[in-house]
Amino acid sequence: MTRIEDLLQPGDALFLVDVQIDFCPGGALPIEEGDKVVPVLNRWIAAAVAKGVPVFASRDWHQLGHPSFKERGGLWPPHCIQDSEGARYHPDLKLPADTIKVTKGARFDRDQTSDFDETGLSVRLHQDGIRRLFVGGLAEDVCVHDTVIGGRQEGFDMVVILDGTRPITPEGGKKARQEMQAAGAQFT
Ligand SMILES: [Zn+2]
Repeated sequence: MTRIEDLLQPGDALFLVDVQIDFCPGGALPIEEGDKVVPVLNRWIAAAVAKGVPVFASRDWHQLGHPSFKERGGLWPPHCIQDSEGARYHPDLKLPADTIKVTKGARFDRDQTSDFDETGLSVRLHQDGIRRLFVGGLAEDVCVHDTVIGGRQEGFDMVVILDGTRPITPEGGKKARQEMQAAGAQFT
C-alpha cells in the first residue's frame, strides 16, 4: 500500500472542498456519510504537513437570501450562512494554522460551485509554483466535481481522493467520476 507521504511531491497542494458542518449529517444540507471524509482527510493533512505541502480549504459562504437558495429560485435549502455555526469547518478537521482558505458563494448574482470560478485561485496557485492538486471534500457530485473540472481547465493536474469525498446521490457520484475522468483527472 502506497503511503500518502510518498505520493506528495514539491509542486503539490492538498485541496479540501467545503468540509463544513452544514454538509455533514445533522447540518442544513446533509450529505450521507459526509463526516466520514474527516478522518481520511486528517491523514492527508498530516502527510501534507510532514512533507511541507500547502493545505488549501474552501468554504461555501452564503449571505442571507443567496441566489442558490430555493427562496430565490435556486436548488438548495439555505446552508452555509456567513458566520453561522453550520458554515464552520467540521470541528474534527485538523486544519493547520497556515491553511490557505478559499471563500466562495458570496456573490449576489449567482452561485459558484467551482473554487476556480472567478475567485482568482489559479493566480495564487501559479504564484506558489503549484501544478498538482489532491482534492477531497464535499460534495463529490457538486463542488468537488466542478472544482476538479475547473482546475483541469486552468491546466492543473487534479487527483481526486476517492475515500475523502462523498456524493449527494450515488448516481451523481458515478456520473461525476466519469466526467472528472473524461476531463483528465486522476484518482487515488
Ligand atoms: Zn452553497
